Amino acid sequence: MTDDTRLLLVDGKQIPAADGRTFTVLGPADGTALARVALAGPADVDQAVAAARTAFTSPEWARMRAADRGRLLHRIAEAIRDQSARLARLESQDTGKPLSQARADVEAAARYFEFYAGFADKLGGSTIPLGPGLIDYTVREPIGVSGQIIPFNYPLQNTARGSAPALAAGCTVVLKPSPEAPLTPLEIGRIALDCGLPPGVLNVVPGDAATGAALAGHPGIDQVTFTGSVPTGIKVAQAAAANVVPAVVELGGKSPVVVFADADFDLALGAVAASAFGNAGQTCSAGTRILLQRGAEEFLDKLVAHAASLRLGPGLEDPDVGPLIAARQRDRVQGYLDLAREEGATVRTGGGPPADPALADGYYIEPTVLTGLTNQARCAREEIFGPVVTVIEFDDADEALEIANDSPYGLSSYVWTRDIDKAMRLTAGIRAGQVYVNATGVGTGIELPFGGYKHSGWGREKGLEGLAGYTQTKNVCIGFGSGS
Ligand code: NAD
Repeated sequence: MTDDTRLLLVDGKQIPAADGRTFTVLGPADGTALARVALAGPADVDQAVAAARTAFTSPEWARMRAADRGRLLHRIAEAIRDQSARLARLESQDTGKPLSQARADVEAAARYFEFYAGFADKLGGSTIPLGPGLIDYTVREPIGVSGQIIPFNYPLQNTARGSAPALAAGCTVVLKPSPEAPLTPLEIGRIALDCGLPPGVLNVVPGDAATGAALAGHPGIDQVTFTGSVPTGIKVAQAAAANVVPAVVELGGKSPVVVFADADFDLALGAVAASAFGNAGQTCSAGTRILLQRGAEEFLDKLVAHAASLRLGPGLEDPDVGPLIAARQRDRVQGYLDLAREEGATVRTGGGPPADPALADGYYIEPTVLTGLTNQARCAREEIFGPVVTVIEFDDADEALEIANDSPYGLSSYVWTRDIDKAMRLTAGIRAGQVYVNATGVGTGIELPFGGYKHSGWGREKGLEGLAGYTQTKNVCIGFGSGS
């Protein structure tokens, strides 16, 4: 192991893996090695969970006043902002995302800590009237040790999204980042320590599927927060169920974007393109199934022209669209583009890697607009997780709703119309965790509950509902005097 290996963060200390293993993180812009990172194995997960268990009941953490916990979270938010430039560069290098998108992610990470900081001292219970001689009240207690497993696409945001509410509630955390993007989660762990978070309260153990499985099924954790793909989410939920602990599983999506002919196309265009092509399409809530009312072909022409005009390049050069995370992801997206052609799609723009030889070493795919597919095509039903949209036509609101709901997923949805009746019909009928009308909230929406219907998952993160999962209710009933 070289001296510059990034180490695990366990019990407030930076340590190598027990078995000395490491892995290399590649930069998506050109495939060169960015960093070596210690690879946590089951023994390291054991150690991190033990540290989190001890910290959960330690006087330093368990007896910290709620208002002081809130102040500590505020300090972490400010420290993240103070280090914004460095964190954004690291996030951009590690994930490939354009620097301005990485900057927005840093701000979102700071906002998560700030938002939940304000709730630390407001997690009150209630009193329940039972009559003379009895007093009954509820207490909201922290659920315990939270095991958190996150994907590669928004490492900064996902680290903050799970750990900030958990810490606000008084929990402790063992976080396992993706092996493809582990660098900024380790930084957040260090920043939190520097801000005075007691040792063991937030542990970060980068690793692979085996590391995640060891954490999800660990008998020492009390709750699991998972963000990632459907197949992995099912395994994680099963592992948690075997220990009878709750799991929040935030999974994939194939979110519909319903564009009526009366929509403000210019307003819609930037938002629809940002949702679909931002982060190179690697966003769970990306609007990738565009349902277009017949008669709104002008919007399609604008979308195609816009997609074709987007500039690709390394994240640090702040292009419109960066590379995908890894060669395997680029190849997967290319596989879907080949399939789309077999399924009879017309490729209106994009359709593969860019011709520019300067980008040949990176994992790029051009922003792609597909038409000519029905909603039954695999490319219209499966999550591609690249900068690819499928455009499907409809006649009226009933048909739009039917197509929008004809999906295994139900994460986000978007409606563009000037007609309040159509908008309200869709908001009531769409089966998805979020509906945006003439708006889009990809990447932020910290204050709004977020989660899936159907195969997009269980439970909610973000907003006040996200905090609820890190507490549990204790009812206390006390009899006194002669009335009990
Ligand atoms: P993934 O499911 O392959 O991996 C997610 C995490 O799980 C990684 O840290 C991985 O190492 C770990 N893991 C893999 N196998 C495991 C196992 N058997 N047990 C425990 N952990 C295991 O997903 P990915 O490719 O990193 O991310 C892309 C997916 O994430 C997409 O489907 C996307 O939609 C989804 N996602 C969802 C949200 C949301 O909030 N709903 C947000 C971002 C990404």
